[in-house]
Parts: sequence; C-alpha cells; structure tokens
Amino acid sequence: MGRRDVIVVGGGPAGTTTAALVAEQGHDVMLFERNAEPTFKIGESLMPGTYWTFKRLGLLDKLARTAYPRKYSVQFYGASGKASAPFYFNQSDPHESSVTWQVLRSDFDHMMQGHAAEKGVDVVLGASVLEVLFEGERATGVRVRMPNGTVEEVGARVVVDASGQSALLSRKLKLSRAEPSLRKASVFTHFEGGVRDEGIDEGATLILNTRNRESWFWYIPLPNDWVSVGVVGDLDYLFADRSLDAQEIFDRELALCDPMVERLASATQVFPMKTTRDFSYRADRISGDGWVLVGDAYGFLDPVYSSGVFLALKSGEMAADAILDGLSAGDLSGPRLGRFRDEYLKGMESIRKLVYAFYSSDFNFGAFLKKYPECQQQIVDILSGKVYRVDVTPLFEPMSEMCALPEASWT
Ligand SMILES: Cc1cc2nc3c(=O)[nH]c(=O)nc-3n(C[C@H](O)[C@H](O)[C@H](O)COP(=O)(O)OP(=O)(O)OC[C@H]3O[C@@H](n4cnc5c(N)ncnc54)[C@H](O)[C@@H]3O)c2cc1C
Repeated sequence: MGRRDVIVVGGGPAGTTTAALVAEQGHDVMLFERNAEPTFKIGESLMPGTYWTFKRLGLLDKLARTAYPRKYSVQFYGASGKASAPFYFNQSDPHESSVTWQVLRSDFDHMMQGHAAEKGVDVVLGASVLEVLFEGERATGVRVRMPNGTVEEVGARVVVDASGQSALLSRKLKLSRAEPSLRKASVFTHFEGGVRDEGIDEGATLILNTRNRESWFWYIPLPNDWVSVGVVGDLDYLFADRSLDAQEIFDRELALCDPMVERLASATQVFPMKTTRDFSYRADRISGDGWVLVGDAYGFLDPVYSSGVFLALKSGEMAADAILDGLSAGDLSGPRLGRFRDEYLKGMESIRKLVYAFYSSDFNFGAFLKKYPECQQQIVDILSGKVYRVDVTPLFEPMSEMCALPEASWT
C-alpha cells in the first residue's frame, strides 16, 4: 500500500468528520475502524450546535430522514424530585439549528462512516490499528491488523488519532491527564416503554438528581420506544461496595430517584447493564509533527450536558481545516496541525465551568436564575453548544458568587 495523505484511526463522529472534510478537497484519506459491524455506543443525545458541522458535511437531509426523536430541550430534576422549567433551545432563536436529535449510535456512526466513504474516504471496517509509527518525533503511519488478519504498515503524511477513549496516541506518548475532581463512573442500559412527555417535550433529555445528590440519571428517548437510561456518580461512591454488581448498583440508585422509578414502572430492560469509569481527562498536547488528536482521543469532559459528540464534531472540523492548511503549505509540523487548540479549549472551558457548577452542592439552576434571570440566555447558549458562536463568559462572574468555579485548565 502506498503512502496516504492522511490516515484516521477510528470511525466515530470525530474521525469520520475529519476524514470526510479532508477527502472532499481531493486528498487521499484512509480511515480504519476496528468494529466490523455497527456496534452499541454511548453518547446518544446531541447538542443543537452539531447542526453547523452536519450542514458543512452535507448530512442534514440524511438526518431529517431518520426516525431519531427531535430534542428541543433539556430539563433538570432536583434532589426533591421537582422539575425545573425545561431549557428550550429555540426559545430565543427559532431557527432549525436550535432543535437537534437523539441518536442510536450504532446506526448514527454507520451513517457517518458511509457518508465519509461517499466523500472519497477509503473506509476500512474491522481494521484495528495496533500502533502509530514514528521516525524520531514525526508520525509516519500506522501498523494495522486488517480484516483478513494480516498485519500491515501503511504510511501517511498525517495520522489523526480519533480512537475515542482508547486514546491510542496519547496513551503511547503518556500525554493523558485525568481531571481529579471529575472522577466519575456510570452504569447504563436501554429500556423499552418508558414514560415520555408529550408534544415537543417528547424527545427531551432529562437529568434527574437522586435524593442524596450523590448521583444523577440521564433519560434520553430513542427510536422504537426505547430510552437510554444511565446513572453517573463519583467512582468512589458508585462502586464503593464491591459486593454489588452493575445491576444492583443501578437498582440501588434508582430507588433514590422517584421520578425515574415512575417513568420506568412499566418499562422492560433491553440488555444487561454496562459500565464505564474514569472518563474525564485531557491530553497535554493536541498535536505533534505529523499527528493530531480529535474528539475523545484528545479529551473528554463529562456526560451531564451531552457535549461529547458536539465537541468531537467540532474538533474534527477544526483539525480538518488545520490539516488542509498544512497540506497546502507543505508544513505538517505540530504547531501547524494543532493551531486550533486554544480556540477549541476556550469553548470546552465554558462547558467545563458549567459542569463544575452542576456538581457543586452550593449551586442549583432554579435558585441561580431567580437571582440572575438575565443569565438564562447564556445557560441556554451553553446547553445548545453555541460556545463557539457567542460569548457566554459573562455568565461566570455571577455564577462564581454562588459556587466555586475552576481556573481555566489550559492557559
Ligand atoms: C457515560 C457517558 C455518557 C455519554 N453521553 C453522551 C451524550 O448523551 N451525548 C454526547 O454527545 N456524548 C456523550 N458521551 C460522550 C460521547 O460518547 C463521546 O464524546 C463521543 O462518542 C466521542 O466521539 P469520538 O469520535 O471522539 O470517539 P468514539 O465515538 O469513541 O469513536 C472512536 C472510534 O474509534 C474506534 N477505535 C478505537 N481504537 C481503535 C483502533 N486501535 N483501531 C481502529 N479503531 C479504533 C472505536 O471502535 C470507535 O468507533 C458520553 C460519554 C460517557 C462516558
């Protein structure tokens, strides 16, 4: 196999976006995805801000033809079981970009992979990248186990690591740093037949605190009357009792959340509980000579505001622009490939601050907005994923009067 312009490791939202946008400009792009078939994945609720990347990719028509529930809002339930008013994304901006989708990831990722292939990407499913190859400091390609079992080396001018939480490159280079205050874990599954609200609230994401505020549930309506339900808590809390299995942990937390019990009263669990842990981290560097990190392979914040896919798409788009610029300038150095880092992190940082507020026992949305009603729009802007389009930072001064917010972790 000859040398490619770009190799992308991973066919999730970050990898397929980067690959499609570079290939559509006529470059030779190869993408390796280790799953041969559409596979279950977490990360089902989108932010409206994904609209702009979908538009650039030319995916809006395909999305409009899916059966994915439309998501107009997110709603928070306090520890008492009382619901806040929903945060409607379209209340001040009635544009179609203010409504988004709840997706079945196996199906969604498959669609993104197919779309990348239509843009000219050589997509190889069932191919596991074993390592990124280097000559000195420069990435030069990958060693990959192909679907027929043979191991091959494929050269490239740029290697994009989009391998998600596997974080192939940042683990190899020991770049990954955990976010100590967000050491969380999660237990989750799908149910069939959970209670949904009506009208435009039918597809809403619900975030429900448990009675002791040690954990919270997500409730994400999916196609086919399925709903994704998961519980998130501190790793040390959720898995403290080692005698409990994942189902027992889920049931223990469910008993602490009356509104969730009501919604699931006549629902049937679709598959055994799955778990994930320690998922908040970021790499020290976003790029080096001949390589760049996108999506979760660079970093992941927290699931509470459903920002993961939005950030994966956004970083995919930004990395694609940096790669295109580097290819045309003949400069594929680390600084050139990672030139988007500060802008990317600035947006991520606003979401991170709101994540800290959510976990602070001094903060709740209702009390904050009662005191500062003028901040409503900035909160909706963050929940919508408008962090790269409008300045939301004035929010953080009044918010820091109510709870401790973190220093920017990137300066
Ligand atoms: C508990 C929890 C709940 C979440 N809920 C949400 C949510 O509701 N909404 C949201 O937007 N986000 C959510 N997320 C985050 C979301 O799942 C991720 O941010 C998103 O999937 C990142 O996309 P990605 O393309 O970077 O990585 P991924 O989607 O993980 O894709 C990486 C791909 O790389 C492939 N791969 C890995 N290693 C290799 C290799 N060596 N060779 C070849 N292929 C490889 C994998 O098979 C995978 O397909 C959640 C995360 C957690 C932990």
